[in-house]
Amino acid sequence: MKIQKNSKKPLIYYYAVVIVIMMLANTFLLPMILKKEISPVDYGTFLKQIESGQVKKVEIQDNQIGFSALNEEGKEGLYITGRLEDPELVNRLYSANVTFERIIPKENSPLVDFLIYWILPMVIFTFLGQRFIGKIQGKMGGMGNAMTFGKSNVKVYVEAQTGKTFADVAGQDEAKEALQEIVDFLHNPQKYKEIGAKVPKGALLVGPPGTGKTLLAKAVAGESKVPFFSISGSEFVEMFVGMGAARVRDLFKQAQEKSPCIVFIDEIDTIGKSRNSGGLGGNDEREQTLNQLLTEMDGFDADKGVVILAATNRPETLDKALLRPGRFDRRVPVELPDLRGREDILKVHGKKVKLAEDIDFNAIARATSGASGADLANIINEGALRAVKFGRRYIVQSDLEEAVEVVIAGYQRKNAVISMKDKLTIAYHEIGHALVAAKQNHSAPVHKITIIPRTSGALGYTMQVEEGEKVLMTKEQALDKIATYMGGRAAEEIVFNTITSGASNDIEQATKIARAMVTRFGMSEKFGMMALETVNNQYLGGDASLIVSAETASKIDEEVLHIIKACHERATSILEENKEKLHDLAKYLLEKETITGEEFMTILA
Ligand code: ADP
Ligand code: MG
Ligand code: ZN
Repeated sequence: MKIQKNSKKPLIYYYAVVIVIMMLANTFLLPMILKKEISPVDYGTFLKQIESGQVKKVEIQDNQIGFSALNEEGKEGLYITGRLEDPELVNRLYSANVTFERIIPKENSPLVDFLIYWILPMVIFTFLGQRFIGKIQGKMGGMGNAMTFGKSNVKVYVEAQTGKTFADVAGQDEAKEALQEIVDFLHNPQKYKEIGAKVPKGALLVGPPGTGKTLLAKAVAGESKVPFFSISGSEFVEMFVGMGAARVRDLFKQAQEKSPCIVFIDEIDTIGKSRNSGGLGGNDEREQTLNQLLTEMDGFDADKGVVILAATNRPETLDKALLRPGRFDRRVPVELPDLRGREDILKVHGKKVKLAEDIDFNAIARATSGASGADLANIINEGALRAVKFGRRYIVQSDLEEAVEVVIAGYQRKNAVISMKDKLTIAYHEIGHALVAAKQNHSAPVHKITIIPRTSGALGYTMQVEEGEKVLMTKEQALDKIATYMGGRAAEEIVFNTITSGASNDIEQATKIARAMVTRFGMSEKFGMMALETVNNQYLGGDASLIVSAETASKIDEEVLHIIKACHERATSILEENKEKLHDLAKYLLEKETITGEEFMTILA
């Protein structure tokens, strides 16, 4: 945890302030509030005031008399006087119509005094102080935990609060089926007990970010109608050593009291990292937390009805002990949605907004290959925002189409200043991509070409959309893809006889594909089907590390270079052959700024 400088004075400081305030209050403030001023007067004055009818109430004690009387201003004041031998007093009071009431405050016992003057304010100030400090720390980002000393702030969600069901999760049919068993068990544990079946204690949801892992866990709780304890792995990592372990203990204690219930540990990789991967000396705190988690998981009886769900997008880093039978022995993959899945997710989120009747979700789904559920939810929302911006009462298709581009490439930068010369270069560059793609047999059709810059930094782009869902990539398709990426730079070379920095992203993407062809797909002649690389984190961008000697590594680089060069040459020759079309299309694009795939094909034909 980052400790900010100067931002937090030690607790003792606050308590010192409180004590000083309390002492001042006790000496000056409280007596004024609690005790009304009582003025001593002599007996003669008392008698005179009775005569003149100023005295209203009287209390006679053994050696003193308290009374209330109207003073000169006509206000009632409290007075006290000594008691003398005066047998006529009672009669005189009667004839003056005085009432007998309590006037002199009773002396409190020292204990009561102590409680009122010292303990009560202390309690009040401490309470206020805690809340105040808690608030400040809440703003400072969760430091409030420092004061809860090992008590985990586990949130308890019950069905009414998660409010999610499997109907909210679209397109994850396999995952839902796997989790349905857990729901059934929580509904009906007897059925499983009778036959002697052991239900898994824990299930691990694995998949890329934004695919709905957290959503699925909530849906399981919603479907089962049981309490849902949810905690994120990062919340276990505490300021003080030993806190994480204490929290785990506390969490499981709470869960067992509330069973049947679901415990959900989100981002479990933050505590569940392999214990020997810590590097320098490891991380004792995390290790303790993990050990406690393992102990707790072993310690409780699954029959009691506590099911543990966890989610991660880096399953490869998890400690093997976590995955042993009896712990997270069930793995539920939550993958990126396919074409139908994307369409279903769009529909689920589309229900929450107002849509035009002719919305074509399929077209949007086709244009968003590789998007996660979170991306798609975001697209619907961006579309709704755009509809509002244009004063519509519902979302139309073009809102969603623009939203796709916003999510992929950022917002349009309509007033970015780009010189005419640069615009021309960008137009040729984009048409270069599109032409190469169109003239090859294995590339996806061109959907849209634009030279309106986006906030992501893209100065223009060519959007291709596959007809259907492709799960495999052939070697020909891979090569065509690389050639398409090369098309931008090739067009610049042909037309301007110079090159620009505009192709940097193309180069990166092309190299990635070429490299994967050689090292992972077995698509190069030189290495054939030899595995040269291993993927480190399949769900997070899938960066890979070489598993070969340095010598082989340099040969791999040569082979990658060879592939890219060949594709570059092919792109150049395609453009040379269609030079006239290149000029026509580039001029058209420059004028229009955005053209559709159909316009493009009409001019090309
Ligand atoms: P993860 O935990 O896998 O990173 P989340 O469960 O937090 O992903 O998903 C984020 C949001 O994306 C959800 O709140 C939901 O709106 C949307 N979403 C993701 N996957 C789906 C899906 N399969 N169906 C419907 N909405 C989804
Ligand atoms: Mg999540
Ligand atoms: Zn490009």
